[in-house]
Amino acid sequence: MRAWRINWQAIADKNRALAPQLLEQNMRRLRFAAPWIPPINLMHIWLFWQRQPESANEALWRQGILVAHGAMFVFFGALALLAWYLERRPERVRLRQLCVSAAIVGTLGFATAISAIDQLITSNITPLLVGCTLVALIFLHRPFSALWLFSLTLALFLFGLQQTQGDPIVLLSNQVNGLSACSIGLLLAWLQWRNFIQIYTQKQRLQAQALLLEEQNQKLSYLAEHDPLSGLLNRRAFNTIVERELLRYKRTRQPLCLLLLDLDYFKAINDRFGHPLGDAVIKRVASLLSSQVRSLDSLARLGGEEFMLLLSDCDREQGLQIAEKLRELMETQLREVDGKAVALTVSIGISYLDAGQSSTYESLYAASDRALYSAKQEGRNRVKVAAPN
Ligand code: GH3
Ligand code: MG
Ligand code: MG
Repeated sequence: MRAWRINWQAIADKNRALAPQLLEQNMRRLRFAAPWIPPINLMHIWLFWQRQPESANEALWRQGILVAHGAMFVFFGALALLAWYLERRPERVRLRQLCVSAAIVGTLGFATAISAIDQLITSNITPLLVGCTLVALIFLHRPFSALWLFSLTLALFLFGLQQTQGDPIVLLSNQVNGLSACSIGLLLAWLQWRNFIQIYTQKQRLQAQALLLEEQNQKLSYLAEHDPLSGLLNRRAFNTIVERELLRYKRTRQPLCLLLLDLDYFKAINDRFGHPLGDAVIKRVASLLSSQVRSLDSLARLGGEEFMLLLSDCDREQGLQIAEKLRELMETQLREVDGKAVALTVSIGISYLDAGQSSTYESLYAASDRALYSAKQEGRNRVKVAAPN
């Protein structure tokens, strides 16, 4: 039983939360619809002006219609101009609200008045039906606003009808017709509102999904380019960067250095302290190296305990200085990791491109590897340099 109870508060809150979108939609619709009305008024005025009244009643009717359409012409002409002025001024919220409300109340007011005036000469209430339908279809109304609006319209119409329709049969018939016209307006307004809510909810769901997709894409591209353990670039991403830098070198001839770093006797660390500590060492090395490189340099973990560093705009001598600094840093900072005396060092092989020489990534990499090999051969914990072929 409880599950079927309607949560009016939640519905009202949701409807209220949609106020900005509602206003935006209604302003856009008003901007489109308002300019159509004054020409229609002019047409009415012209047509009624032509006709010479044949009775006092008709003269009163004609006069009433001319005044009503004249007032509508001025009213909707001004609203059309105001809507055009407010189109690019979303910050004028109050004025925009006023404008939309005026259009709604104005349309129904004029429709009611013209229908009542028509009763002087004819029994039809087409203006009321047209007014209710237009207001319900052109503008969006919150359900309770619509209920109020069309109830008031009906009350106003019934009052006007009483003043102008003398025939009791026609009066009764038009009272019922007026009720139908206002009910149709209300029903259309509610249907419109339901569509609006559905479309809006779907749009929000789509936006949320698009956002999620975007986030997942970002995560995927991060995973595709980074090493999960150290957070550094992986080999694939690093290769792309080096290729790009080599192209840049061709154009600018700005020197660059490629460093290959390999921890010394790392296997012994794993064997002695276990792989988790080995992992902690790798992370520590990654963060130490990251803290030293400049933003234009690129640092990657190739796998295992091997790292690669590309120094852009850096010649052989500068490269050697940086490599030596890194070696020293490792020696001093890796004496202890997580309370364990690991006393790790690093061997570094460095190759370079400067003085306008040309080379490929492969030969640069091979030179760094040769240099690293000789650093290992000569006793480790040192920097060696080799020129690319
Ligand atoms: P060398 O001074 O000659 O470089 O000696 P080394 O022991 O460092 O050389 P080697 O390349 O033989 O050993 C690398 C070791 O790195 C082997 C493997 O157990 C370890 N290793 C590779 N990847 C990982 C990893 O992701 N985590 C941990 N903890 N160890 C790894
Ligand atoms: Mg190795
Ligand atoms: Mg090693």
